[in-house]
Amino acid sequence: MIIRIFLLLSLFFYAFPATAGVKVLTSILPIHSLASLVTKGVSEPDYLVGGGFSPHSYTLKPSDIKKISQADVIFIIDKDFESFLSKALEGREEKTFFLSKIPGIKLLPLSDTATINDSSDFSGYDFHLWLDTNNAENILRYMSQVLSTKDPNNKDIYEKNVASALQVLSKQTKDMEASFLDYKEEPFLVFHNGWQYFTSQNGLNVKGSILAHEEVSLSIKRRLQIEEQISEEGIKCIFSEPQFSNKIALSLAKKKELRIEEVDPLGSNIAPGAELYYRLIENAVSAMKRCLRH
Ligand SMILES: [Zn+2]
Repeated sequence: MIIRIFLLLSLFFYAFPATAGVKVLTSILPIHSLASLVTKGVSEPDYLVGGGFSPHSYTLKPSDIKKISQADVIFIIDKDFESFLSKALEGREEKTFFLSKIPGIKLLPLSDTATINDSSDFSGYDFHLWLDTNNAENILRYMSQVLSTKDPNNKDIYEKNVASALQVLSKQTKDMEASFLDYKEEPFLVFHNGWQYFTSQNGLNVKGSILAHEEVSLSIKRRLQIEEQISEEGIKCIFSEPQFSNKIALSLAKKKELRIEEVDPLGSNIAPGAELYYRLIENAVSAMKRCLRH
């Protein structure tokens, strides 16, 4: 009899694990990290664009299509950001959640950073919105709401997880903003214009980006413009990014005697998981301070 009860019970738990949760899929690693903070102890979210890949040039693999069809909830930033997903998400509207549409999320227009951008005909939003830690806080709250609706059994865990993540993040934000107080004057250039959320949150003196929106290389004309700007504005620091070849940045740095540091908006060199977002911000803060030192 006891054995039979045990067998029945184990069958029951096999079919209905207590913390089954829902299958969560995300696009890029920072968003995967935020989702992992929310689902800690319930489920492991998955992602599409791993380390070494850029969402600006990603193409879906057959294994990605499988992940998309098996997911219960998909968190992406915007259909204009993860444009590689637009076809695959057709007909999956009810399980797709756009972070750019969260009420109260800070959205900056693309044109603001492009001070040295020739192609001024483009107007739209800059979707690198996760690089503002206040937006990350909003995303955490939103994810918890969505998951609590889809998976009410684990609502308490999601809410507890978010409360403790918000505590860590708001302390990190305070420390970050305070630590930049002495670095606000130094003019600098970023590599691609994905950093305005970070630089505007911290009040940094960014003068533009080396590459304009969607650009992958520099024309000779643009290169000369940038060299001129570097001299005129007294720029002594530029940033490279692992998703782009650092050839342009290195040769500019050498010619104009600039300090150069790498900053990574995607956290490609950090182990994927809940802690990645904190490390990404930490790394960006220290790289920026090394480059902006007086
Ligand atoms: Zn980008």
